[in-house]
Amino acid sequence: MTERVNLNNISIVLHKPRHPENIGAAARSMCNMGLSQLVVVNPKNYILKKVLKLATHVAADIVEHVKFYEDLKEALLGYNYVVGTTARLGGERQVVNSPSKLAEKLIPVSRKNRIAIVFGPEDKGLSNEDIRLCHVLVNIPTAEFSSLNLAQAVMIICFEIFTVGRKENEKYAPRLANRHELDGMYDQLKDILVKISYINHENPDYWMNKLRHFFTRMQLRAREVSIIRGICRQTDWYGKKRYEDGLKSKNKDEVKKGAKNAGKEI
Ligand code: SAH
Repeated sequence: MTERVNLNNISIVLHKPRHPENIGAAARSMCNMGLSQLVVVNPKNYILKKVLKLATHVAADIVEHVKFYEDLKEALLGYNYVVGTTARLGGERQVVNSPSKLAEKLIPVSRKNRIAIVFGPEDKGLSNEDIRLCHVLVNIPTAEFSSLNLAQAVMIICFEIFTVGRKENEKYAPRLANRHELDGMYDQLKDILVKISYINHENPDYWMNKLRHFFTRMQLRAREVSIIRGICRQTDWYGKKRYEDGLKSKNKDEVKKGAKNAGKEI
């Protein structure tokens, strides 16, 4: 079980599948995405050898534990929430989510409820009668040809559920710079950009606002703010050093000139 979605509460229901290979490939997709409960209703040809060939040995366990039913209504009796999948839109098929929106919706529902996601037969899809058993319908957006291979449709739905259900801390979340760090950086930038005459010293805030918008859009991380502040510090140091070096050599020249002229009456 992942933290956000309870995958143990979600079953994939294949209604009247005609090709055993699709059952095997669907089982494999489920396995890839961490789902394990497969229900098969009134299959046309259930040839175990063909199912297992596409399931591969990894999903053999899912195939071994398939629950079979004669009738969809009977198969769905123990479920609290039923999702229908459809390639076709229009008519009675009103409520249609995108797979990712569906996955979001299932997060809270999956905690305490058993969910069935129903897929129709390869030739005709789910009938209107089947659809009346569903709480919600989902469509996978496609180009003009809307009918996906059954197992591929299973994969897309399982992928969205798996992705949305991943633990928050599995995603890399760097620390963003806080207000104090950002304000310090803006002060330092303003100071240095005026010094090097990149922005007009009479109206520095006009340009600083543009820079603020630019950096705000980038959502700077704390580490990145330190880098920018480091560059400002180094630029400032370098400018001062060049200025002091210039002064020293000017002084030297003057001392030399003075030495040359010493003793001469001017
Ligand atoms: N010819 C059928 C499609 C059957 S495809 C029709 O027009 O409805 C077999 C099953 O795969 C469908 O019943 C559905 O469960 C799923 N499926 C295929 N394409 C889909 C899509 N674009 N969106 C959602 N589910 C889809």
